[in-house]
Amino acid sequence: MSQPYELDVLNPATEEVIATVPGAAEQDVDAAASRAERAQRTWAALAPGDRARLLRRFATVVDDHIEELARLEVREAGHTIGNARWEAGNVRDLLDYAAGGVERLTGRQIPVAGGLDVTLLEPLGVVGVIAPWNFPMPIAAWGMAPALAAGNAVLLKPAETTPLTALRLAELALEAGLPEHLFQVLPGRGDIAGDALVRNPRVAKIVFTGSTRVGRRIMALCADQTKRLTLELGGKSPNVVFADADLEAALDPFSFLDNSGQDCCARTRVLVQEPVYEEAREFLADALAAVVVGDPADEKTQMGPLISGQQLERVRSYVPEDAPALRGTAPDGPGFWFPPTVLTGERHDSAAAREEIFGPVAVLLPFTDEQDAVRLANDTPYGLSGSIWTRDVGRALRVSQAVRAGNLSVNSHSSVRYSTPFGGFQQSGLGRELGPDALTAFTETKNVFISTEGPAQ
Ligand code: NAD
Repeated sequence: MSQPYELDVLNPATEEVIATVPGAAEQDVDAAASRAERAQRTWAALAPGDRARLLRRFATVVDDHIEELARLEVREAGHTIGNARWEAGNVRDLLDYAAGGVERLTGRQIPVAGGLDVTLLEPLGVVGVIAPWNFPMPIAAWGMAPALAAGNAVLLKPAETTPLTALRLAELALEAGLPEHLFQVLPGRGDIAGDALVRNPRVAKIVFTGSTRVGRRIMALCADQTKRLTLELGGKSPNVVFADADLEAALDPFSFLDNSGQDCCARTRVLVQEPVYEEAREFLADALAAVVVGDPADEKTQMGPLISGQQLERVRSYVPEDAPALRGTAPDGPGFWFPPTVLTGERHDSAAAREEIFGPVAVLLPFTDEQDAVRLANDTPYGLSGSIWTRDVGRALRVSQAVRAGNLSVNSHSSVRYSTPFGGFQQSGLGRELGPDALTAFTETKNVFISTEGPAQ
């Protein structure tokens, strides 16, 4: 039994409390898991076409509420309104894409002697999704949509600071006609509600997105029950810019400033080939000065605040006042503001160049040749994403093969699409989400052999 408690939700642009939400205690998680177990049986028994139809209806209801969800995300997470609209739209797209998979979740028929052999892909049961605060809606839906499509129930624990859009999505699911208790949201503290979800024996799988530190702890706890687990963790991704690249496109500052740098795929290690290093420095100085930082609800704003005072302190700790750096501007006064920053005096092995800062801060580092670029790009315990910029196709392919990361882009900074797999190498994670195989990650494969031997003559 844990004690009742509440969560205050702050607007990070003003520091005002905008809502107070009851936090889930251990017994609430337990009760929710029992209800989810029952709802899952009803859901899995529906015809696949009917499950797909209900998920498409959920997508339509989300689409009807894009503006409302986006405004809520601006208020609780400080995301710019343009980004927040994209994020709500991403939930709709994920539901649509997953709905298309329900009737295509086919097993296999394998040739064997003496009978017929088929594999069945069965739902796991109840899936626990633990989400972070940096992209509350999309990351919740990366787990929720394919898990539901594969016939599971979902318990979603949003981050302490951002429970509001998750709670609204659960209401919209009911409005769309999904069975009651099939998708439940449990706002709460990580060490109480999150921990209870991981330990609960009724929860068959955990999908965790968050810090590497907490991910490791969850992995150890899951081991006790051999619980299925997907981990999406931190990153310190390289942006490798060769001298022949389109410099303006390669050095787009939003490759590390988007969402105020609170993006696990942010290209925060800007590696530039020596002949164009000085040009790159000058370009970035101008680009940072031009970034519009301010009220996230304003359509013209390009970068909002950080999520919390704690995050602001963390970011500050990597950027001493006297550090050699290129700096943009940020508002004074209330709100968790930090200016766009590129550190120019770091070594590749300094803390700022190796650790995930999770703020609008990148490091600029020179490299000599292709071999040096690959060495620097791989000099990290992470391996989530990265970009490679060159007009030489052979080199682009060689470097893509040599860099150890789950999601690379060549002459582009994109990394996440709902239709392509996403996940990390090394300490950036375990397993993959999204893409054509997303539903399979929420199933158990059962092999059935049916004898065709007749009775002995
Ligand atoms: P965090 O690890 O502190 O929290 C993530 C979630 O885990 C929250 O919901 C939190 O309440 C919960 N949690 C905390 N302690 C727990 C415990 N003991 N047991 C169970 N749950 C617990 O991370 P954060 O600060 O919210 O998010 C930022 C991190 O997320 C960054 O490191 C970032 O790189 C990572 N991230 C990764 C991806 C990806 O796809 N790889 C995407 C977004 C964010």
